[in-house]
Amino acid sequence: MQVTDVLIIGAGAAGLMCALTAAGRGRRVLLLDHANKAGKKILMSGGGRCNFTNMYCEPGNFLSANPHFCKSALARYTQWDFIGLVGKHGVAYHEKKLGQLFCDHKAGDILDMLLDECAQAGVELRLETSVSEIARLEAGYQLQTSAGLVRCQSLVIATGGLSIPTLGATGFGYQVAKQFGHRLLPTRAGLVPFTITDPQLKALCTELSGTSVEDCLVSCNGQSFRENILFTHRGLSGPAILQISSFWQPGDTLHIDLLPHIDLPEWLAEQQRERPNSELKTLLAELFTKKMAGLLADSWFVNKPLKQYTPGELKAIAAQLADWQLVPAGTEGYRTAEVTLGGVDTREVSSKTMESLKSPGLYFIGEVLDVSGHLGGFNFQWAWASGYAAAQYV
Ligand SMILES: Cc1cc2nc3c(=O)[nH]c(=O)nc-3n(C[C@H](O)[C@H](O)[C@H](O)COP(=O)(O)OP(=O)(O)OC[C@H]3O[C@@H](n4cnc5c(N)ncnc54)[C@H](O)[C@@H]3O)c2cc1C
Repeated sequence: MQVTDVLIIGAGAAGLMCALTAAGRGRRVLLLDHANKAGKKILMSGGGRCNFTNMYCEPGNFLSANPHFCKSALARYTQWDFIGLVGKHGVAYHEKKLGQLFCDHKAGDILDMLLDECAQAGVELRLETSVSEIARLEAGYQLQTSAGLVRCQSLVIATGGLSIPTLGATGFGYQVAKQFGHRLLPTRAGLVPFTITDPQLKALCTELSGTSVEDCLVSCNGQSFRENILFTHRGLSGPAILQISSFWQPGDTLHIDLLPHIDLPEWLAEQQRERPNSELKTLLAELFTKKMAGLLADSWFVNKPLKQYTPGELKAIAAQLADWQLVPAGTEGYRTAEVTLGGVDTREVSSKTMESLKSPGLYFIGEVLDVSGHLGGFNFQWAWASGYAAAQYV
């Protein structure tokens, strides 16, 4: 039987940060993962460049049934702390936009940095190892793993959420939480594209698949995001769509302002005065791709020279472009979602230590908890911050 101070299950973003920090404090740390490689999601993230944090990270960038929970950890390990670590390792990075920091070269630079820190601190990393049983002892826990029995004082669950099962995601963390009497909040896919089945809308999306519209304002349930949207074969994606998906519930209507930077009624009236013989599709081609302008002019409106539109018709065109309303059929689900919303109820976990309030010595960090960030590096910042917080106490 192996005996260790700290056993961390899940060598993803949160588990790696917790391991290197706890080992840095002099704790004996064993980090287990059932996958054949640590940090698979880090490697896939940010289109292969890992959007590892956000310069403007604040508690307001996170969703949770308990919105205050994330504050303490985020304040004790900030984006600047992680940027400092990245700088120490000489990893080249840049701001893409909106404070989002990406590696210049590859996401692997962040994973190598974390693995290097783990190795230097003496973390024992064991891959391709699964856990079949967990028992609580008087002090600590005993686990049956595929590599034998392990005893530890502190057990950290860092197994993430359900998103992208092909990258090793499982519901393991939720099962452990349940075993030790924790409440789970319903889980669903977040930061995920929408699917559309309405035949007319679907035809539009398929025709425009690959077309991006810059600077749209997408709103739902009192939340709005201003960013690009992208048409796909199956529906809609792009940053503004992914963001709003975390606030959408089945049956809800999305409101999309395709041109929030233009006062449309005034602009259309002005164009009608200045170029009365121009057709609507010619005018729209100055705002969208030619193909999209043609499709909108023909399928949403009746295309004709501007002078032939009544003021009421122009008003209706402006209203439709500024408030395109649609009800998605659903989302692409965990297959492509960047995060899992919901999870272990944070009201039963200490916001200071990440320790279970139900079972001493048991800790939950990262995405397995009911804390999910907006798109833009916030989810990794939560993984770093919660992993760091737990590491001070394990
Ligand atoms: C495609 C994609 C791109 C993303 N891009 C970004 C981005 O650019 N910026 C950003 O901030 N966020 C991004 N995210 C979100 C981010 O990756 C996650 O929020 C973050 O990885 C969560 O960290 P975690 O350590 O809690 O979980 P994970 O990183 O998912 O790690 C969990 C680990 O636990 C292991 N595990 C699971 N079950 C078991 C088990 N039963 N036994 C043993 N081990 C187990 C897994 O193999 C995995 O290694 C992206 C997500 C995806 C899917």
